Amino acid sequence: MSTHHAFQAEVAQLLHLVTHSLYSNKDIFLRELVSNASDACDRLRFEALDNAELFEDAPNLEVRVAFDAEAKTLTITDNGIGMSEAEAIEHLGTIAKSGTKAFMSRLSGDQQKDAQLIGQFGVGFYSGFIVADRITVESRRAGLPPEQGVRWVSAGAGEFETEAISRAERGSAITLHLRDDAADYLKRWKLKGIIGKYSDHISLPILMRKEEWDAEKGESVLQDEWEQVNAASALWTRPKKDLSEQQYTDFYETISHDSQAPLCWSHNRVEGATEYTQLLYIPAKAPHDLWNRDKKPGVKLYVRRVFIMDEAEALLPSYLRWVKGVIDSADLPLNVSRELLQESRDVKAIREGNTRRVLALLEDLAKQGTQEAAPADGASADGAAAAAPVEAPVDAAQAEAAEGASTPSEAKDKYARFYAEFGAVLKEGLGEDFGNRERIARLLRFASTASDAVAVSLADYKARMKEGQQAIYYLTADNLAAAKSSPQLELFRKKGIEVLLMTDRVDEWALSFLHEFDGTALQSVAKGAVDLGQLQDEAEKQAAEAAAEQHKPLLERLKAVLADKAADVRMTTRLVDSPACLVVGEGDYSNQLARMLKAAGQ
Ligand code: ADP
Ligand code: MG
Repeated sequence: MSTHHAFQAEVAQLLHLVTHSLYSNKDIFLRELVSNASDACDRLRFEALDNAELFEDAPNLEVRVAFDAEAKTLTITDNGIGMSEAEAIEHLGTIAKSGTKAFMSRLSGDQQKDAQLIGQFGVGFYSGFIVADRITVESRRAGLPPEQGVRWVSAGAGEFETEAISRAERGSAITLHLRDDAADYLKRWKLKGIIGKYSDHISLPILMRKEEWDAEKGESVLQDEWEQVNAASALWTRPKKDLSEQQYTDFYETISHDSQAPLCWSHNRVEGATEYTQLLYIPAKAPHDLWNRDKKPGVKLYVRRVFIMDEAEALLPSYLRWVKGVIDSADLPLNVSRELLQESRDVKAIREGNTRRVLALLEDLAKQGTQEAAPADGASADGAAAAAPVEAPVDAAQAEAAEGASTPSEAKDKYARFYAEFGAVLKEGLGEDFGNRERIARLLRFASTASDAVAVSLADYKARMKEGQQAIYYLTADNLAAAKSSPQLELFRKKGIEVLLMTDRVDEWALSFLHEFDGTALQSVAKGAVDLGQLQDEAEKQAAEAAAEQHKPLLERLKAVLADKAADVRMTTRLVDSPACLVVGEGDYSNQLARMLKAAGQ
């Protein structure tokens, strides 16, 4: 004896949309149903903590996906908590979830747009109606007797029916009567592919019948035997101590499609207001499209082990777009969209946590590199940047090993390798992430008049500054050779003052955000007048002033001749051997930046 029930008005509205629209991504229905099955098993496990009898005689929790090509049905079966009749009416007749409610509130009435929205959100159980014109649910709640099972049936219009049935097995079986245009889902490879994409890391086994080639029939035939089709590994949910380097590396390869082992990684469970698991990798090689600022970060988002999306750009700032990894949130709704991600407080906390983690990982790598890069006199810089590199390595190496890098000797040149690949992108952070500017600045390395290798940190530089030197001097140029032969350096050479030589295209732009480092101003030697302050003796200054006076007529004439080419012509102390050089005004773009902006069409 079956009873008719009307859907809650919102459900009816939602179903109308689901059944009358086109879908950008039909496949998501399977993700939703498998994740419901997995949730049901989690709930059983949880309730069984207090009442082990709920397991009855089937303690192995699993999900089975089966199809019947003749009947055109697809069935997802779990042996989880199940539903009583009252629960089926309640849970499958109303929308209680805040995520779906939020989705409903965003509906625009424009069918095309709304349909796209469904694709992004998924609408839980009801997404079954994307591919089915009728859904039958048979279920029995764990702990209830077999005759208290329920059958729930609906064609996805305004109403559904329920009736009591006898069901020996605990848990639920959701049967989709597929629409004619959904016949694709009656193919094993298709279903397996979707499971592999969205549900590979669900911690339960997902089983499908084996398929074997039948030579007589000339086709593949389903067998009675079942086999697991998901990896069910969810490596990131396992404790660090149970995982080997090889496992971490293999996992990196599967998520990044990079055949080279990563440089290092960091794996953490973050608890507190926002709970998530974080597994972040630093690749060894930059991808070819690194410079595309629209490139999205290679971080995958999972919610409780269910895959949500690739390249979740909200999880990392753009200057860290080369980081790969997985974030698994315990708090976000399964149907979160990219737009919602941008607005979520949880996501903001995750993004900040990820940023801090990557910077810390780099700081650790850099610390190990310091032994090589440190200047010969061993003068190590102020506190944090070089942080006692001599004592630290053992600890650092161990911490690093737990975080998954290799031996200390291999680690030594890792920072240099990292920097050669990603250093220039990291610099974008100076302009993008003001909160971490100081930390980013400490991670930067440059060539200088004292080092051809790109190995001088700002802290190294500061530690070597001359008595009385008041600024960190730098020069930007197209390449190292051009930088080194610049006449701008003559005076600095003569005085023995180190100048950082910057040759990345972003340097000029990035450095415009860094006015000082650790209390010392940064100054371009190509801008304005150089005032070496106390480093210049009075006699020199007076000689320059006298020369300016003496050659005034010459300067005036040059100024007149160059009137439309130069803003000013002046006597300078910055040159030693060269007769003249061009400089730009203090607040102006340098030659290099001007060229770069011009090339960028600005
Ligand atoms: P959500 O999973 O986000 O709660 P759904 O629309 O996917 O939303 O499912 C609605 C509700 O239906 C679930 O919360 C659950 O109570 C019930 N449900 C769905 N599928 C199952 C299942 N396989 N076993 C038990 N309960 C289920
Ligand atoms: Mg669900």
